[in-house]
Amino acid sequence: MKNLLGSSVEELENLALNYGQAAFRGRQIYNWIYNYRNKKKNIEQIEVLPLDFRKKLRVDGFKVSELSFQEKNLANDGTLKLLLSTVDEESIECVGIPTEKRLTACLSTQVGCPMDCKFCATGKEGLKRSLKSSEILDQILFIENEMNRKVTNIVFMGMGEPLLNIDELLLSIRSINEDFQISQRKITVSTVAVPKMINKLSEKSFQLLGKCQFTLAISLHASNQKIREMIIPSAKNYDIKNIIEDCRKFVRDTGRRVSFEYLMLSGVNDTLDNASELSNLLRGFQCHVNLIQYNSIDEVEFKRASLKNLELFQSRLFNHGIAVSFRKSRGLDKNAACGQLRQNARNK
Ligand code: SF4
Repeated sequence: MKNLLGSSVEELENLALNYGQAAFRGRQIYNWIYNYRNKKKNIEQIEVLPLDFRKKLRVDGFKVSELSFQEKNLANDGTLKLLLSTVDEESIECVGIPTEKRLTACLSTQVGCPMDCKFCATGKEGLKRSLKSSEILDQILFIENEMNRKVTNIVFMGMGEPLLNIDELLLSIRSINEDFQISQRKITVSTVAVPKMINKLSEKSFQLLGKCQFTLAISLHASNQKIREMIIPSAKNYDIKNIIEDCRKFVRDTGRRVSFEYLMLSGVNDTLDNASELSNLLRGFQCHVNLIQYNSIDEVEFKRASLKNLELFQSRLFNHGIAVSFRKSRGLDKNAACGQLRQNARNK
C-alpha cells in the first residue's frame, strides 16, 4: 500500500507526471488531501480527477487514509477521544481538544510505549511498534472529520515516546507545517526524556526541516532524581540534572522555550519542599512549568493531589520567579488518561 498522506506538492506533481497526467493533477490531489472539508479520504472521492486516473491509482494500491474508526468518547467539555485501528489490527488513541479559537490534536507516535511510566495506562502494555508518519498524520484527518473543524495546534502527547520514533516524527512535523499549514510554533513535542535524544531532536530538525521552532515539553514529574526513578523507571539512565542541562542547550540552539510538565501526585511529589526543590533545579532557566491534575487509572495506586496542595505548590514556584500554570484536566468524565480508552476496549 502506498499512502499519499504526507506527500509534498512536488511529490504529487511527479506522481501525476508518472501517470502521463499534467502536473496540475498532482496539485489537485494535494489540495484535496489537505482540505479538512473533504471528509472521506478515499481516492475515488477526488472527483476533480479523471475517472481513469483515479481508477489507476486505486488499482496500483494508493490510499490516503489507512486507519479505521473503532470507538469514540465525547466528554462534557467537548473533548473527543478517538480509538483508531491500524491495518495490522492494533489500536491507537488520539484526542481533539476544542476551545473557541483552537482545535488541538493530541497525537500518538507509537502503538503502546516502552517507557513504562508507573502512572500511565499506555506504559502498562509495552511497545508494539512505532507508527509511520502517514499513520501519525491520519489521526489529524480523523479528528477534523469527527469535529468538523480544522486542527490548529498539535501536541505529541498521546501514546508512545516521540523521541524513540524521531524520523517519522520529523517527517510528520514537516507535513503538518507545510501541507496542513500549521506553524511549527503551534506544535509541541512532549517527551519523558531519552538520553542524547534532546540534542538529536534539534540537530535533526535543523538538518531535515531547516528549522526547529516547535516547543519542547519535558515530562519531568519530579523535583529530584529519586522520585523521578520511582515513577518513571527509564529515568535511571538519565539524571534529572543532565536533562535540565540538555534543555538549556536546546533553548540556546533553537531560541525556543522549554516547558516542564509536572503531574501532581498526592504524597509523592506535591509538597512545598518539592516545590522549593524544583525551583532550585530550574533557577535561572527561562522555562515554563505546567502543573497537571492526575487522571487516575485502574491498577495504579497513585492519587490526584488536592487542589489546595496544587495552589500552594504553584504559589511557591511563582514566588521563586518560575513561570507556572495549572493545566486543568480535559475530558475528565470519559477515559481521560492516556491509553485508558485502548485499555478498556481490550478488556471488553
Ligand atoms: S507517559 Fe508517555 S512516555 Fe510514559 S509510558 Fe505513558 S506514553 Fe509512554
